[in-house]
Amino acid sequence: MKPSLSKTFIYVNLIYYPINVLGPGERAGLWTQGCTIRCPGCVASYTWEFSGEYKMKVKEAADKILSFGSGRLTVSGGEPFDQPAAFNELLILLKKGGIEDIMVYSGYTYDILRKNHSLALDKIDALVDSPFMEGAYSNEKWRGSNNQNMIILSEKKQLREKYISYMADAAAGAGRALQVASCGGKIYVIGIPDQRDVSGIKSGLGSI
Ligand code: SF4
Repeated sequence: MKPSLSKTFIYVNLIYYPINVLGPGERAGLWTQGCTIRCPGCVASYTWEFSGEYKMKVKEAADKILSFGSGRLTVSGGEPFDQPAAFNELLILLKKGGIEDIMVYSGYTYDILRKNHSLALDKIDALVDSPFMEGAYSNEKWRGSNNQNMIILSEKKQLREKYISYMADAAAGAGRALQVASCGGKIYVIGIPDQRDVSGIKSGLGSI
Protein backbone atom coordinates (compact mmCIF):
# COMPACT_ATOMS: atom_id res chain seq x y z
CA MET A 1 0.00 0.00 0.00
CA LYS A 2 1.20 3.53 -0.77
CA PRO A 3 1.82 5.57 2.41
CA SER A 4 1.14 9.30 2.69
CA LEU A 5 3.92 10.92 0.73
CA SER A 6 5.55 14.32 0.99
CA LYS A 7 8.35 16.14 -0.75
CA THR A 8 10.49 16.03 2.39
CA PHE A 9 10.93 12.27 2.71
CA ILE A 10 11.85 9.65 0.14
CA TYR A 11 11.85 5.86 0.36
CA VAL A 12 15.26 4.55 -0.66
CA ASN A 13 16.40 0.95 -0.93
CA LEU A 14 20.02 1.64 -1.79
CA ILE A 15 22.45 4.39 -2.72
CA TYR A 16 25.71 3.05 -4.09
CA TYR A 17 28.86 4.22 -5.83
CA PRO A 18 30.47 3.33 -8.18
CA ILE A 19 28.31 1.44 -10.64
CA ASN A 20 29.56 0.61 -14.14
CA VAL A 21 26.70 -1.39 -15.62
CA LEU A 22 23.66 0.89 -15.76
CA GLY A 23 24.27 3.63 -18.28
CA PRO A 24 27.35 5.17 -19.88
CA GLY A 25 30.44 5.56 -17.71
CA GLU A 26 31.03 5.23 -13.99
CA ARG A 27 27.99 6.48 -12.07
CA ALA A 28 26.29 6.75 -8.72
CA GLY A 29 23.21 4.57 -8.31
CA LEU A 30 19.97 5.16 -6.44
CA TRP A 31 17.28 2.50 -6.02
CA THR A 32 14.03 3.86 -4.66
CA GLN A 33 11.85 1.70 -2.44
CA GLY A 34 8.17 1.17 -3.21
CA CYS A 35 6.43 0.17 -6.43
CA THR A 36 2.70 -0.09 -7.12
CA ILE A 37 3.12 -1.38 -10.70
CA ARG A 38 4.20 -4.87 -9.68
CA CYS A 39 5.10 -6.44 -13.01
CA PRO A 40 4.90 -10.24 -13.01
CA GLY A 41 8.45 -11.62 -12.99
CA CYS A 42 10.05 -8.44 -11.58
CA VAL A 43 13.54 -9.24 -10.30
CA ALA A 44 13.30 -6.52 -7.66
CA SER A 45 10.10 -7.49 -5.84
CA TYR A 46 11.92 -6.82 -2.55
CA THR A 47 11.62 -3.12 -3.44
CA TRP A 48 7.81 -3.12 -3.72
CA GLU A 49 6.80 -2.23 -0.14
CA PHE A 50 6.97 1.33 1.16
CA SER A 51 8.34 0.18 4.53
CA GLY A 52 9.23 2.80 7.15
CA GLU A 53 12.75 1.46 7.55
CA TYR A 54 13.59 2.79 4.07
CA LYS A 55 12.35 6.34 4.67
CA MET A 56 14.96 9.10 4.67
CA LYS A 57 15.06 12.86 4.25
CA VAL A 58 15.35 13.94 0.62
CA LYS A 59 18.17 16.27 1.61
CA GLU A 60 20.05 13.43 3.27
CA ALA A 61 19.69 11.27 0.13
CA ALA A 62 20.90 14.13 -2.06
CA ASP A 63 23.88 14.82 0.20
CA LYS A 64 24.90 11.17 0.14
CA ILE A 65 24.71 10.98 -3.67
CA LEU A 66 26.59 14.26 -4.09
CA SER A 67 29.28 13.15 -1.62
CA PHE A 68 30.55 10.66 -4.24
CA GLY A 69 31.60 13.53 -6.48
CA SER A 70 30.21 11.82 -9.60
CA GLY A 71 28.43 13.93 -12.18
CA ARG A 72 26.40 10.91 -13.30
CA LEU A 73 23.52 9.08 -11.68
CA THR A 74 21.23 6.20 -12.57
CA VAL A 75 17.92 5.85 -10.73
CA SER A 76 16.06 2.57 -10.62
CA GLY A 77 13.84 0.91 -8.13
CA GLY A 78 11.19 0.37 -7.02
CA GLU A 79 9.33 2.99 -8.99
CA PRO A 80 10.74 6.51 -8.55
CA PHE A 81 7.61 8.17 -9.95
CA ASP A 82 5.43 6.53 -7.28
CA GLN A 83 6.78 9.22 -4.94
CA PRO A 84 6.73 12.09 -7.41
CA ALA A 85 7.00 15.11 -5.12
CA ALA A 86 10.00 13.74 -3.23
CA PHE A 87 11.62 12.52 -6.44
CA ASN A 88 11.22 15.91 -8.09
CA GLU A 89 12.68 17.60 -5.01
CA LEU A 90 15.63 15.22 -5.04
CA LEU A 91 16.28 15.94 -8.72
CA ILE A 92 16.28 19.68 -7.99
CA LEU A 93 18.92 19.23 -5.27
CA LEU A 94 21.05 16.91 -7.40
CA LYS A 95 21.07 19.23 -10.38
CA LYS A 96 21.90 22.18 -8.13
CA GLY A 97 24.71 20.06 -6.67
CA GLY A 98 26.29 19.43 -10.08
CA ILE A 99 24.90 16.12 -11.38
CA GLU A 100 24.82 16.59 -15.13
CA ASP A 101 23.74 13.19 -16.39
CA ILE A 102 20.66 11.52 -14.89
CA MET A 103 19.32 8.26 -16.32
CA VAL A 104 16.06 6.89 -14.86
CA TYR A 105 14.26 3.55 -15.13
CA SER A 106 10.47 3.71 -14.78
CA GLY A 107 7.72 1.15 -15.21
CA TYR A 108 5.40 3.87 -16.52
CA THR A 109 5.34 4.76 -20.18
CA TYR A 110 6.77 8.03 -21.43
CA ASP A 111 3.29 9.29 -22.35
CA ILE A 112 1.97 8.74 -18.83
CA LEU A 113 5.03 10.39 -17.31
CA ARG A 114 4.81 13.34 -19.69
CA LYS A 115 1.15 13.80 -18.79
CA ASN A 116 1.51 13.45 -15.02
CA HIS A 117 5.12 14.26 -14.10
CA SER A 118 6.51 16.72 -16.61
CA LEU A 119 8.42 18.70 -14.02
CA ALA A 120 10.55 15.73 -12.97
CA LEU A 121 10.84 14.43 -16.52
CA ASP A 122 12.36 17.72 -17.64
CA LYS A 123 15.25 17.19 -15.21
CA ILE A 124 16.16 13.76 -16.61
CA ASP A 125 18.63 13.12 -19.42
CA ALA A 126 17.67 9.58 -20.42
CA LEU A 127 14.61 7.54 -19.54
CA VAL A 128 14.08 3.79 -19.84
CA ASP A 129 10.30 3.48 -19.79
CA SER A 130 7.54 0.84 -19.64
CA PRO A 131 6.85 -2.10 -17.36
CA PHE A 132 8.92 -5.26 -17.37
CA MET A 133 7.29 -7.99 -19.48
CA GLU A 134 8.08 -11.55 -18.61
CA GLY A 135 8.84 -13.58 -21.74
CA ALA A 136 9.60 -10.53 -23.92
CA TYR A 137 13.31 -11.31 -24.08
CA SER A 138 15.88 -8.69 -24.95
CA ASN A 139 19.58 -9.11 -25.71
CA GLU A 140 20.36 -5.44 -25.10
CA LYS A 141 22.20 -4.73 -21.89
CA TRP A 142 20.08 -1.75 -20.81
CA ARG A 143 16.65 -3.36 -20.93
CA GLY A 144 14.97 -6.22 -19.12
CA SER A 145 12.28 -6.80 -21.76
CA ASN A 146 12.05 -5.78 -25.38
CA ASN A 147 9.00 -3.50 -24.93
CA GLN A 148 11.13 -1.01 -22.98
CA ASN A 149 12.54 2.06 -24.71
CA MET A 150 15.48 4.28 -23.95
CA ILE A 151 14.44 7.85 -24.66
CA ILE A 152 17.15 10.46 -24.73
CA LEU A 153 15.67 13.64 -23.27
CA SER A 154 18.81 15.70 -22.79
CA GLU A 155 19.41 18.64 -25.05
CA LYS A 156 23.17 18.55 -24.35
CA LYS A 157 24.84 17.49 -27.59
CA GLN A 158 27.78 15.60 -26.06
CA LEU A 159 25.57 13.74 -23.66
CA ARG A 160 23.09 12.80 -26.38
CA GLU A 161 25.99 11.41 -28.43
CA LYS A 162 27.17 9.38 -25.44
CA TYR A 163 23.76 7.76 -25.03
CA ILE A 164 23.41 7.15 -28.77
CA SER A 165 26.77 5.38 -28.78
CA TYR A 166 25.84 3.37 -25.66
CA MET A 167 22.64 2.19 -27.32
CA ALA A 168 24.43 1.40 -30.58
CA ASP A 169 26.97 -0.77 -28.71
CA ALA A 170 24.13 -2.62 -27.04
CA ALA A 171 22.31 -3.15 -30.34
CA ALA A 172 25.55 -4.50 -31.83
CA GLY A 173 25.60 -7.16 -29.12
CA ALA A 174 28.02 -5.63 -26.60
CA GLY A 175 27.82 -8.02 -23.68
CA ARG A 176 25.52 -7.63 -20.78
CA ALA A 177 27.51 -6.94 -17.64
CA LEU A 178 26.46 -7.38 -14.03
CA GLN A 179 28.23 -6.04 -10.98
CA VAL A 180 28.29 -7.60 -7.53
CA ALA A 181 28.33 -5.20 -4.61
CA SER A 182 28.35 -5.70 -0.87
CA CYS A 183 26.62 -3.02 1.18
CA GLY A 184 25.18 -2.96 4.72
CA GLY A 185 25.68 -6.68 5.16
CA LYS A 186 23.83 -7.58 1.95
CA ILE A 187 25.04 -8.67 -1.45
CA TYR A 188 23.53 -6.97 -4.49
CA VAL A 189 23.75 -7.93 -8.14
CA ILE A 190 23.60 -4.63 -10.01
CA GLY A 191 22.60 -4.36 -13.65
CA ILE A 192 19.94 -5.77 -15.95
CA PRO A 193 20.24 -9.55 -16.24
CA ASP A 194 18.96 -11.59 -19.15
CA GLN A 195 15.54 -12.87 -18.04
CA ARG A 196 16.61 -16.41 -18.84
CA ASP A 197 19.48 -16.20 -16.33
CA VAL A 198 17.62 -14.75 -13.37
CA SER A 199 16.75 -17.88 -11.44
CA GLY A 200 20.36 -19.10 -11.62
CA ILE A 201 21.69 -15.74 -10.45
CA LYS A 202 19.18 -15.55 -7.59
CA SER A 203 19.94 -18.98 -6.29
CA GLY A 204 23.65 -18.26 -6.47
CA LEU A 205 23.75 -14.75 -5.05
CA GLY A 206 21.10 -12.41 -3.74
CA SER A 207 19.24 -9.19 -4.48
CA ILE A 208 19.30 -7.83 -8.00
S1 SF4 B 1 8.11 -1.15 -12.36
FE1 SF4 B 1 10.17 -1.94 -11.99
S2 SF4 B 1 10.25 -2.35 -9.76
FE2 SF4 B 1 8.10 -2.09 -10.32
S3 SF4 B 1 7.40 -4.17 -10.65
FE3 SF4 B 1 7.98 -3.35 -12.66
S4 SF4 B 1 10.12 -3.97 -12.91
FE4 SF4 B 1 9.62 -4.23 -10.75
